[in-house]
Amino acid sequence: MSQQMYVHLPDIRKTGKTWQWEISPERLMSNEGSVDPLVGICATATWQGSIEYAHDIYTLNGSWKVPMLRQCVRCLSDFEWQSEHECQRKYSLVAPQDVDDEEKLDVEVIPISDRLNLMDVLREDIWLTWEACVICSSTCKGLCQTCGMDLNQGDCGCNALASSHPFAGLAAMKFDK
Ligand SMILES: [Zn+2]
Ligand SMILES: [Zn+2]
Repeated sequence: MSQQMYVHLPDIRKTGKTWQWEISPERLMSNEGSVDPLVGICATATWQGSIEYAHDIYTLNGSWKVPMLRQCVRCLSDFEWQSEHECQRKYSLVAPQDVDDEEKLDVEVIPISDRLNLMDVLREDIWLTWEACVICSSTCKGLCQTCGMDLNQGDCGCNALASSHPFAGLAAMKFDK
């Protein structure tokens, strides 16, 4: 059931191409293609999109959803993170004419003999949108600064202890320097 992810652009000039794929974690983390394998994929990913041709330019519009196992930067626990993104790429078989320089930069030129690997496009986009710091939930309470307990699991009591401390009142006072 391994889909063919290569596209030879001249072949789809008239018809265009659309796809809607489910891709296994094993495949995303394999050595297929020329972009680095992904890491930590924990469930089936989806990758869908279309390519349309107009005025020498092939425009790819795609979207993907990839569940991965990440570590929360607040509470340090592993959780399933849904990474999703919409991407647009432009390709041409010849260096585009009649467009300004800025537009030229947007267009990737692909030699006519080459095929476009949609697996590479997907992986590239996932790496490009990689977020270094992710949190398991916007309400994640993180770890206690004093004892290191995961405060999502309950209250460690350090705060209560601090406020019953005889000098706890000092913390609330303002000192003039
Ligand atoms: Zn967390
Ligand atoms: Zn604590």
